[in-house]
Amino acid sequence: MIDRYLADHVLPMDPAFSLYSPGFVDVAEGRVAAVGPAAGAAALAPGDVLHHVEGLLLPGLVNCHAHSPMTVLRGAGEGLPLQRWLREVIWPREARLGPEEARLGMLVGAGEMLQGGITTSAEMYFHSEAVAEGAVAAGLRTLVFPAVAEAPGWERFGTAADMIRSAVALRDALAGEDLIEVGLGPHAAYTLGEGALREVAETAAAERLPVHIHVAETRTEGDGVRARTGLSIPAYLASLGFFGPRTAAAHCVWLDGEDVAILAAHGVGVAHCPGSNGKLASGMAPVKALRSAGVAVGVGTDGPASNDNLDLWEEARLALLYSRLREGDAGALGVEEALRLMTCDAAAALGRDDLGAFLPGRRADMVRVSLEDVVYDPVLAPRDLLGHLVWAGSRRDVSDVWVGGRRVVEAGRCVTVDLPRERAALRAAAARLAG
Ligand SMILES: [Zn+2]
Repeated sequence: MIDRYLADHVLPMDPAFSLYSPGFVDVAEGRVAAVGPAAGAAALAPGDVLHHVEGLLLPGLVNCHAHSPMTVLRGAGEGLPLQRWLREVIWPREARLGPEEARLGMLVGAGEMLQGGITTSAEMYFHSEAVAEGAVAAGLRTLVFPAVAEAPGWERFGTAADMIRSAVALRDALAGEDLIEVGLGPHAAYTLGEGALREVAETAAAERLPVHIHVAETRTEGDGVRARTGLSIPAYLASLGFFGPRTAAAHCVWLDGEDVAILAAHGVGVAHCPGSNGKLASGMAPVKALRSAGVAVGVGTDGPASNDNLDLWEEARLALLYSRLREGDAGALGVEEALRLMTCDAAAALGRDDLGAFLPGRRADMVRVSLEDVVYDPVLAPRDLLGHLVWAGSRRDVSDVWVGGRRVVEAGRCVTVDLPRERAALRAAAARLAG
């Protein structure tokens, strides 16, 4: 049986950057079966269902880097730079944060993301079983990267080897859960010793796990590594054999040309988080150079305590603004690139070739954007719409969302998470954590 979605506009995010006005997407068993201009659609068979969709249909957005359970810490430590923010505000609260708060924070974060058109998120956090539970309850596709760190306070999760072992056990336990993929989330080169970094790489290779790590977020985080080894963080990680076939590095702000070449040579994907990098005054990542070198770059929101929302539309717009400012060039990054950063390139950065585009066989993760707001006019040619979408649109214009063909947002409201009820629980949890 086929569900056919016939929309005023379909933006499949295919390599040709097609736009079909009107267009159709056929969905069977949770995957895209066919896509194209409405006039070219095959006849439907008895039992197939036709859905008329007003507005624009595009692939679900892919959030390349987040710590969504931190919705329970939203806004904490405003105005502090990264290291003080972590040590004085975040880590003391996280020491009090248990599995129930992690599940609740993830559930609410997932509801927020789905309502804004995000259908997949890469989540690095602890209490990962609870994180996966919250994500599944919300119906959000999630790459769960259990954090591995050797930092003050992390002894409560055992050694790095213990954290790696429990991540593998979680992967095995969730093997039948279609929405979840489990990997390893080594926090950063500055919070892990060489032995732990090697063990992450060895386990990832042996168990075929994706890996997600923070790299070169701030100007000074590589100082310790450089003093000890003479190497930049990317060169150091490469020297350890750390980069596997599915490594995604978050931030990558402070890179020189050699670092960019190293990431490209090893096929490392990059999660660009301009909102977080701006809020914590970390810097502006060399997105143009990374893309030119062939690195897959997607945008990420980072955690809602350093952003403070989970809004990928805003990240894409910031990516354009920062790149243009950094390069001093209004053509440094364009509307097409912004849309790719949120969809197909984001999927590629995470090594997921089943997401991010309406191509036959990919997951039917879909977002309907209502074009009722005045900001979507004038449209003199259909592609004017895409500029409006990136520069003037908003997550509030997302009206319906499907994950694997299942509708999770209807008329702007998430139907899988009772947000009013969960928000009350979240407020109570936040007060407890603030101590
Ligand atoms: Zn992060």
